[in-house]
Amino acid sequence: MARKASETDADIILMCGVHFMGETAKILCPDKKVLVPDLGAGCSLADSCPADRFADFVASHPGYTVVSYVNTTAAVKAHTDIVVTSGNARKVIDSLPADEKIIFGPDKNLGSYINSVTGREMLLWDGACHVHDRFSLEGIRNMKEEHPGAKVLVHPECRRPLQLIADKVGSTAALLDFASTDDAREYIVVTESGILFEMRRKCPDKVFLAAPADDAECQCNECDYMKMNTLEKVARALREESPEIKVDPELAARALRPIERMLALSK
Ligand code: SF4
Repeated sequence: MARKASETDADIILMCGVHFMGETAKILCPDKKVLVPDLGAGCSLADSCPADRFADFVASHPGYTVVSYVNTTAAVKAHTDIVVTSGNARKVIDSLPADEKIIFGPDKNLGSYINSVTGREMLLWDGACHVHDRFSLEGIRNMKEEHPGAKVLVHPECRRPLQLIADKVGSTAALLDFASTDDAREYIVVTESGILFEMRRKCPDKVFLAAPADDAECQCNECDYMKMNTLEKVARALREESPEIKVDPELAARALRPIERMLALSK
């Protein structure tokens, strides 16, 4: 989305996402005004990696290349060598020399998945997304018994045991693509439930079942941060050209370098 934002000639971008997405758009488009519907829409994964602690972690491991998932603050990106998305992480890591020592943050589940498919032993930051980290293995197994023909689609931000029972592990775009081209009729979808709308729109003849969470207090698989963005807030942001994302220019310049490196390596 941030890349799309940088390609438009519009002066104002409204990023209908969470804070780090608006920040990334602002880093890529410093001359544009970047708005978000709600400045309070954060991200538990980005919050699981405070920049000062991450900087200490990096400093205590000299000689490591630092790779960060895009779901991070600008301040964490500024301590990073290469940013990745869930869609290009494998390609970027594969492009690095086999003996390169790598720190991967902040998502331990995505990092563990990349380690498993690349054979690397990246050092993982202990962060996670509260939505993807709470899916229930037992609940999904029970759903499989009730729907034996259903395929299991898992986002790599989910825990390793869930990745291991998946028919497909992939980014949101990869899961959508798989569901559109695969021949099964039913799917158990193990990622934030917002994707279900797009899956049902693209594949109206198929059945998409939301996987359950195993959190005693919250059984749902919705991201409460993303759901803070409402149509009313979108309309107000467009009307008032506010709230605006601001990033200190010096910090933005440091955070831009690892994003540009990702864009160069993932071509
Ligand atoms: S689902 Fe929400 S909390 Fe989790 S990574 Fe996405 S934006 Fe962050």
